[in-house]
Amino acid sequence: MDYEGQICRAPMERSAFMLPVMVGCSYNRCKFCNLFRHLTYRELPMERIEGELERVRRAGGSPKRVFLGDGNAFGLKTERLLQILERIHAYFPECMCINMDATVTSIRKKSDRELKLLYDSGVRHLYLGIESGLDDVLSFMEKDHDLLQAYEAVERLQKAGLIYDAHIMTGVAGKGRGQENAKALAEFLNRTGPAHVVNFSMFLHKEVPLYRHIADGTYIPADELENLKEERTLLKLIKTELLYDGFHDYIEVRVRGRLPVDQEKMAGKLDRVISEYEGRGPVYSYVQGECPDLERCGDLEKVWNI
Ligand code: SF4
Repeated sequence: MDYEGQICRAPMERSAFMLPVMVGCSYNRCKFCNLFRHLTYRELPMERIEGELERVRRAGGSPKRVFLGDGNAFGLKTERLLQILERIHAYFPECMCINMDATVTSIRKKSDRELKLLYDSGVRHLYLGIESGLDDVLSFMEKDHDLLQAYEAVERLQKAGLIYDAHIMTGVAGKGRGQENAKALAEFLNRTGPAHVVNFSMFLHKEVPLYRHIADGTYIPADELENLKEERTLLKLIKTELLYDGFHDYIEVRVRGRLPVDQEKMAGKLDRVISEYEGRGPVYSYVQGECPDLERCGDLEKVWNI
């Protein structure tokens, strides 16, 4: 299948067979996100999905784990998801779990009965874009949830047997608020108990609406040193057991391990990088001209006015 968009999934899903069931993200409004901004959201026809299942089976594939793409596959209507799950099991009876990204709203839109039905049909891990522990940051970034809604959604999905994993983003709260965000995020994670936490630390893209705020001074980005310190505090405060994987791709730093047992080792690594950056001028994770549709992204207004 020709893949449209940018492949982005949690590292623990790297061995899963990625099956696109949609193009883009049905929400597509988070101010910092450039993953699918250039794409028009649409569901893929069942013939195309089935064609991909057939292709992989013919090639001898027998995946035990399938990851549904793209941005928010759990946002599909339950009936549609059940059809897809049924097809996956028909092609690959040995498949043990089907995982995907989800938004808090996509969970809120499903009843408890639907969540249970999806669990019974093989859905296991849902990766939620939690991003921040601060309500004003979530609202500013136009995330589609507030903290109370996130608490309720996590409780409901866990009750249905589904496994909750959290995407977070150091740096999201902006300059001077890293420590505040670390404490708020730690509280959220300690209370909700995700199995995995993935930190894709903030990237500053030119072709997203957040850039307008940077340009007019209504959002002041944190530098990488502040982001590393934010992560250091977060790791110290996480008391619940989970697997953590944190990426600062711009400065090529990655911190991973099992918390809380590996806390000291992980914090030690961060301390070494922090002392390295403490002696330098500020480094910002600015990325420009990275949008896959440069013709469109060359004209910022068009993108900002979506
Ligand atoms: S829900 Fe996820 S993929 Fe969609 S716009 Fe927000 S961050 Fe991007």
